[in-house]
Amino acid sequence: MAKDRVLTADEVIEKVRGYLNEEHVKLVEKAYQYAKEAHKDQYRKSGEPYIIHPIQVAGILADLKMDPATVAAGFLHDVVEDTDITLEDMEEAFGKEVAMLVDGVTKLGKIKYKSKEEQQAENHRKMFVAMAQDIRVILIKLADRLHNMRTLKHLPHEKQRRIANETLEIFAPLAHRLGISKIKWELEDIALRYLNPQQYYRIVNLMKRKRAEREQYLEEVIHDVKTRLDEISIKADLSGRPKHIYSIYRKMALQHKQFNEIYDLLAVRVIVDSIKDCYAVLGIIHTCWKPMPGRFKDYIAMPKTNMYQSLHTTVIGPKGDPLEVQIRTKDMHNIAEYGVAAHWAYKEGKTVDDKGSFDKKLSWFREIMEYQNDSADAEEFMESLKIDFFSDMVFIFTPKGDVLELPKGSVPLDFAYRIHSEIGNKTIGAKVNGKMVTLDYKLQTGDIVEILTSKHSYGPSKDWLKMAQTSQAKNKIKQFFKKQNREENVIKGREQVEREIKNMDFDVKEVITPENVKRVAEKFNFANEEDMYAAVGYNGITALQVVNRLTEKLRKMRDQEAIIEESLKDLKPASSPSHSKKNSGVTVKGIDNLLIRLSRCCNPVPGDEIVGYITKGRGVSVHRADCPNVNDEESTDRLIEVEWESGAADQKEYTVEIEISGYDRQGLLNEVLQAVSETKTNISTVSGRSDRNKVAKIDMAIYIHNISHLHKVVERIKQIPDIYSVHRILN
Ligand code: MN
Repeated sequence: MAKDRVLTADEVIEKVRGYLNEEHVKLVEKAYQYAKEAHKDQYRKSGEPYIIHPIQVAGILADLKMDPATVAAGFLHDVVEDTDITLEDMEEAFGKEVAMLVDGVTKLGKIKYKSKEEQQAENHRKMFVAMAQDIRVILIKLADRLHNMRTLKHLPHEKQRRIANETLEIFAPLAHRLGISKIKWELEDIALRYLNPQQYYRIVNLMKRKRAEREQYLEEVIHDVKTRLDEISIKADLSGRPKHIYSIYRKMALQHKQFNEIYDLLAVRVIVDSIKDCYAVLGIIHTCWKPMPGRFKDYIAMPKTNMYQSLHTTVIGPKGDPLEVQIRTKDMHNIAEYGVAAHWAYKEGKTVDDKGSFDKKLSWFREIMEYQNDSADAEEFMESLKIDFFSDMVFIFTPKGDVLELPKGSVPLDFAYRIHSEIGNKTIGAKVNGKMVTLDYKLQTGDIVEILTSKHSYGPSKDWLKMAQTSQAKNKIKQFFKKQNREENVIKGREQVEREIKNMDFDVKEVITPENVKRVAEKFNFANEEDMYAAVGYNGITALQVVNRLTEKLRKMRDQEAIIEESLKDLKPASSPSHSKKNSGVTVKGIDNLLIRLSRCCNPVPGDEIVGYITKGRGVSVHRADCPNVNDEESTDRLIEVEWESGAADQKEYTVEIEISGYDRQGLLNEVLQAVSETKTNISTVSGRSDRNKVAKIDMAIYIHNISHLHKVVERIKQIPDIYSVHRILN
């Protein structure tokens, strides 16, 4: 490809005449005239007439020996986009095929591309191929881009960078996939020149400086090999293999290598007539110079996925430096340089190859586009040059310009769930290319899809499962319903538990307290109460099991009440519970009209800690909490909470027995009686005695209001001289 020279239209026509028949040449010429007329008032940024650009594009395609329709479309590729001429005009003038190619190029031109991370770049490339629909559209687009890159200097700086970037991320990789190394390298080198001019020119200068030295050395090597090959009459083309600036740049950047480490690796390419000769040349090279171990690669026997074939070896060259040698046939070389274009190069009278190479192309094509399809059928493939690789896929834009790949037939719901399940669940509508569509609208490649969501959405509806095409969306919708069922189960479970509580005749509010529910949920090993209710809802556990646990304490209390009631029944009508109650000044928590007695064993008084003991048939007897009579294990079932009635202390008097001991002297008893009386305390009984050791013991029953009254009495007695101790008596 003549990189630096601008071709004239005549030169392009001449190129075409070199491989097409006169009828086809006429079509190409007509396309040129048509384009020239259509663009006649237009100029490029460089100031040149616009037609120069389509001429160069057609020229590049002619160099690739493309078929007449493709070269014609090269001339016409900007006509629909940039002039008043319509696609219908185009079809009328040139037929369906040319119009289709021009339309494809026009559509591709509309894809907006901003620099993206690698995954997005890959999706853009795939979408490109999918939208192109015909491999020739991509070839035209690549030729178009190549010429635009060659003339990039006329554009403003920002635009240069944007286009160069797009070239590096989309077009060069596409050229590479299609095996068109020629175009790929040139695109990369130019892109680098604009994206990183400093590095670009540094590498160019370094290459220049070494060029003379290198060229001389290479000439010697080539001469040596050629002499040996002449001896055995093998015809071969030898040349130094050109190094590409961008690949040197990448190796330096990625492998952190110095320029010399890369560039000093000399490379020679040998092109021969036959595969047999390839191996013969390899033999000669290996006898001249010592091969470096591990560096021999036989891509003839084992072609690369893009069908690249060649022998590679590295030997220790005449100067002791590594020398890289590539050996291949002319056909292999052609494919190495032009890739898919080499396969599509127009051959007169031959639109379809023989079946064998056909299948090869097919598999090659599939592999380069990394697309697997089980129905590998040659006819389907060749449907002329139609691109079918992504026929199962659509490529959809987000409003931000990201591309998502979805199965063909996908609807906005699939798109929404691909972005995020929350977006999917809250979807209430969708816009495609700015217009409202239904949620079952079939998405087309290139659509810009905007999902409308609402916080107040009720979530997916059941028919979404039918609308959604992707398993991802379907699964997420199902998940939603499952979760929703859980919520239903929680509600159902809660209702069942409450019903059961009522059946047991308990008050729901009393049973369902946060602490109580938490305690029971933990007992059953649920993470939280919702899990427990959900389990009840789907019958993982019965409501009765839960309620039994929830009412443990309340049921125990109720049992006690039953015992109490039992005891009340036994009471004779004559004995009035209310009378007894009045006298005791004690109530059983929450229960009225119980027969309550203060026990005589410990004589509790208001202020003492007390417990009730449910007796058999004699109501509740009240003991001090520390009374040994109620602190054995058998008693615990019958213990019941009791409390002093408020105000009991002031109105009632309680008998307390105390024992006083002191030195037995005359008048002691009198002084004690005097002291008690000073505290305004009535005495019920008193008795005294003394022993041989002159220790006097006075037992006294006194009427006390409450515990502090008792303390006062005890303290007063202790003030009397010769008193040893004052104790409250426990019988
Ligand atoms: Mn163009």
